Amino acid sequence: MEEHVQRVERLAFAGRIASEIAHEIKNPLAAMSGAVQMLGSGGDSDPLQSKLVNIVKREIDRINGLIKDFLWLAKGVHTTENLESVSLCAVIQEILTLLRARDKISPAHRVHTLFESNPSCLVDSHHIRQILWNIILNALEAMPEGGDLTIGVSRCGARDSGKDEVRVEIRDTGEGIPPDIRDRVFEPFFTTKQKGTGLGLGIVYQLVEKAGGRIEISSHENAGTTFSLFFPSDASFPLAN
Ligand code: ADP
Ligand code: MG
Repeated sequence: MEEHVQRVERLAFAGRIASEIAHEIKNPLAAMSGAVQMLGSGGDSDPLQSKLVNIVKREIDRINGLIKDFLWLAKGVHTTENLESVSLCAVIQEILTLLRARDKISPAHRVHTLFESNPSCLVDSHHIRQILWNIILNALEAMPEGGDLTIGVSRCGARDSGKDEVRVEIRDTGEGIPPDIRDRVFEPFFTTKQKGTGLGLGIVYQLVEKAGGRIEISSHENAGTTFSLFFPSDASFPLAN
């Protein structure tokens, strides 16, 4: 519990700094982006110039992605949720479609969905999308050579309250999380990837906390990782099976 409180406080602090930085970077970046668009729009530019312009554009995109993550981290602290009844299965299908369109799912990835039921949760639909997106993307990134991604949705009785919960399980057959870093994965900026930001799971932790849910991780080195997310089900909505 102590650890949980510390983690939430640390994330909230990182969120506040991140939003300050994001606001400072946004305007100069927009100016750079506009300027480079103009540089690239002259049809008579030589090949070297257009190559350089493309590099600048690509790197600006990357910084924009980072700013978006900064703002998401801050969202866990600042924004109020816009609660609505959301079908988790539908959200997962949408995310898988988007990931395919962006080539994040390669032909070497086998995707399995095990939807035991189609429950609704009373959550912020943007938040839930971001949560599931970050975890599914991590699962795919843990399997660069391919593997099995299995996503399960089921209902279960909650641990203490006796109320219904919805469980989403995201399992990969990737490299696993080594025991010595398992406690650190939710830390903001903690990453083991060359091009990682280390913000994905920090954002997830904040948003799951806000949604009144919880996360469990089980991981075996070189065998894979399972992230289990639990959310309160939407009691006002009859659960469809
Ligand atoms: P990033 O993806 O930018 O590295 P995240 O916060 O999303 O940042 O993840 C933090 C770290 O947690 C990753 O760098 C990786 O070491 C570890 N991790 C997260 N998900 C998985 C997974 N499914 N399999 C193995 N390692 C993982
Ligand atoms: Mg990530």
